[in-house]
Amino acid sequence: MLAIDYVNTLTAEDDRLEEWLSSQDLPWSEAFRELRGHVEAAVLAARDGLEPDLAPLNAALRGAPSFEVLTWSDAVVVSRSREGDEVARGLAVLASAAAELLASPAVRKVKTCEAPGCRLLFVPAHPRRRWCDPATCGNRVRVARYYQRHKD
Ligand SMILES: [Zn+2]
Repeated sequence: MLAIDYVNTLTAEDDRLEEWLSSQDLPWSEAFRELRGHVEAAVLAARDGLEPDLAPLNAALRGAPSFEVLTWSDAVVVSRSREGDEVARGLAVLASAAAELLASPAVRKVKTCEAPGCRLLFVPAHPRRRWCDPATCGNRVRVARYYQRHKD
């Protein structure tokens, strides 16, 4: 999920926003870091049934409005394009991904990883899942508990 991937570029250890943006073919701008904070806050608020601050997301959407483009390729093909410069378009794409999540029932299922020292968000495949990744965080917690139990 693009909006979750975007928020998760800020881990407890480091900020992977720059490399993630380039993996998405998006340019670098400090504005992406700012929008990420707004997306995270909005997702967490909506998850908890609270009214999120939607103004920054609306501003990003308005910054590069999308429109349909018709082309001919043996038949009429409809695609979408955006106005604005590269940064404005990138911000709008990510705000639009956030909009999709915020307006979907899935937003109520978003969880924060319960492993100590992890802040990643995820939408669990089944409701009892507690860790962003059972293979890393889940395993880390199980190992820590094992040592706790066998300490003496
Ligand atoms: Zn985790």
